[in-house]
Amino acid sequence: MELFDSHCHLTAEQFDADRDAVIQRAMDAGVTRILTLATDVSSSRAAIALAEKFDAVFCAIGIHPESVAKAATRDLRLIRELAAHPKVVALGEIGLDFYWDKTTADLQQKFFEQQLELAAELNLPVCIHDRDAHDKLIATLENFAPAPPRGALHAFSGDAALAQRAFDLGYVVSFGGPITFKNNKTAPALLNALPLEKILIETDAPYLTPHPWRGKRNEPAYVKLVAQQIATARGLSVAQVAAQTTHNALELFRLKGQ
Ligand SMILES: [Zn+2]
Repeated sequence: MELFDSHCHLTAEQFDADRDAVIQRAMDAGVTRILTLATDVSSSRAAIALAEKFDAVFCAIGIHPESVAKAATRDLRLIRELAAHPKVVALGEIGLDFYWDKTTADLQQKFFEQQLELAAELNLPVCIHDRDAHDKLIATLENFAPAPPRGALHAFSGDAALAQRAFDLGYVVSFGGPITFKNNKTAPALLNALPLEKILIETDAPYLTPHPWRGKRNEPAYVKLVAQQIATARGLSVAQVAAQTTHNALELFRLKGQ
């Protein structure tokens, strides 16, 4: 079985004590590829360094919406330069977050649009963060002319209608730990309704830890629990879900043959 954790943060300080062991545990659990996401310039550099060290690790670099207040305009120039590295396969994570901080909404929008433009210019897909910003975020993509760069809506928290708008743009949606939570009543029907060819799996480690480890630190090995949840909802085997979601991620990040 080959699993692809399409979104995590391996450079987070929560992994400082045992990062290599965490990656090894993921490989032992069948996770053959991991995409680690940056949130600012320094974590972008760290992500690239980690990807250089491990064949299975690839990276997405960029300015996260929660990092825009501390970001400078020149940071986008640095991201552009760093994106030339062969293990940078996407820009991310980028997007809008009106849950943690609404006061930076205009600045978030500016960085989001500029990074979409950069991704389009560099011909890279994007990994998008959307928290309490569904309408504004999907409208930004729909209004992006002539077409937005391809991408994934990570930790998807919308409904089937929002997912359809994303699919219409050529996007995929990515699911993580929250679909395994016991109090998530809507996930099974949604997971059953969406086409499996449009779904990625992720951990967002060290955050959003799936059941039964909720409350503890998350790590990429647990992406199998996410695959298991989708398999249960759809009446498939974990292996089938792993194969299709890995195929989807390899296609989006243009990693076929790697
Ligand atoms: Zn993330």
